[in-house]
Amino acid sequence: MVIIMEKEADVKQIEQIIDKLDKFGFSVHRSTGVDHTVLGVIGDTAKIDPRDLQVLPGVADAHRISAPYKMVSREFKHNDTLIKIKDITIGAEEIVVMAGPCSVESEEQIMTIAEKVSSDGATILRGGAFKPRSSPYSFQGMGEKGLKLLRKAADKYNLLLITEAMDKEQISVVSEYADILQVGARNMQNFTFLKALGQVRIPIFLKRGIAATIEEWLMSAEYILSGGNQNVILCERGIRTFETYTRNTLDLSAIPIVKKLSHLPIVSDPSHGTGLRDKVIPMARASVAAGADGLMVEVHHDPENAKSDGAQSLFPEQFSELMKQIRGIAKVINRKIR
Ligand code: PEP
Ligand code: MN
Repeated sequence: MVIIMEKEADVKQIEQIIDKLDKFGFSVHRSTGVDHTVLGVIGDTAKIDPRDLQVLPGVADAHRISAPYKMVSREFKHNDTLIKIKDITIGAEEIVVMAGPCSVESEEQIMTIAEKVSSDGATILRGGAFKPRSSPYSFQGMGEKGLKLLRKAADKYNLLLITEAMDKEQISVVSEYADILQVGARNMQNFTFLKALGQVRIPIFLKRGIAATIEEWLMSAEYILSGGNQNVILCERGIRTFETYTRNTLDLSAIPIVKKLSHLPIVSDPSHGTGLRDKVIPMARASVAAGADGLMVEVHHDPENAKSDGAQSLFPEQFSELMKQIRGIAKVINRKIR
């Protein structure tokens, strides 16, 4: 943490700040320049809110020079975290593809889609049984009955299963059926939920919040890691911007940024990231090129009649085309896709 004093700051104001920090156990390196005095705060500054210093008399600015997260950072752990589940490793050379409908709707639906995505090379089946919907009148998901169908389809077609839990009460039932537990964008800062997820061992798929900065997202991951669960996969799923042509703005730059800041794997979700079927393939290609460790894609055999997110769900033949195209891109960046 660095504190830059105002040009007019007097000795008393500078000493007051040094005393205050000293009382909290920090040591301060003072450097007196021609115009400004700069104070370097030494110690575990993650506990300090820079704004508490910015408002003190005589202070021009105060900001961090190190990140507030620890366990998720590359400094803490240099090597990439590999999440191994059965015969799949997330975060290694192979780019994993998670595909399936937005929601599980019936046995026939999930079996049809699982067979299709598996034959094209997806290794993880996605589908929601507990759905976070903006309207209470929209389809809310099939609940545990849906989880049973998802598991049945995943087992039949040799896929892993990822599905969402919306609160801590749903953790145990979702863990019973799923291989990966998804935390939806709307829950990224549900801190009691994140703390509970720190106490379980199932890998957590943490979607970026709709209006979350990368730092806030990594701090949410920090809750889970510091709680004891090291198996976290991050997912960029688009953020809200002023742009209205797409449902969300897929923040592709988050992929290389997260790769540099953190050792955790990152997956891109161009389906929620754009909200429009015809934008999914180009943004999936771009995500792979940007270095994503995986893709999450919504696919439906009859998207026009889907109970949720039909407009962003690919037709089966589009999914085959996507897989073909991203295999080519993976090759040129020395990665592979099944
Ligand atoms: C989903 O994956 O179906 C979903 C609801 O995603 P998000 O939380 O990113 O909106
Ligand atoms: Mn969806």
